Amino acid sequence: MPVSGLPPYDRSNIFARILRGEIPAKKVYEDEHAFAFHDISPQAPVHVLVVPKGDYVSLADFAASAPAETIAGFWRAVAKVAKDLTLEVSGYRVLTNMGVHGHQEVPHFHVHIFGGRPLGRMMPRADD
Ligand code: 5GP
Repeated sequence: MPVSGLPPYDRSNIFARILRGEIPAKKVYEDEHAFAFHDISPQAPVHVLVVPKGDYVSLADFAASAPAETIAGFWRAVAKVAKDLTLEVSGYRVLTNMGVHGHQEVPHFHVHIFGGRPLGRMMPRADD
């Protein structure tokens, strides 16, 4: 169910098409809750996207609409993917963009995992 004031889920979005196998993706991991694949335009040596298999527009929609088991399974999958990519010792960053100010481009909830080099500050300061 869409969150009040936010757009409804659009089944033609690019990640929905990847989940349906209509568009290829470099798969990293899959289970009943999540599908993980390499970002097409990586911004770090490791840049993997993790998406839930259900129709959720954003984190707001996922948190409001998904069953607790799905939410737990999804976040466990995110941590497992990072661990399987051997990022735990060196560290990594998990990020989700939401809505206009978050600059969300694809309207299917997804988490970015970045790693493979020191990632610097979470947000650049104005004088950086
Ligand atoms: P957002 O700004 O929505 O959080 O990020 C969307 C991400 O999806 C971007 O990092 C972009 O590079 C990635 N992306 C867009 N289209 C495709 C695609 O067709 N395949 C893959 N693997 N990644 C994509």
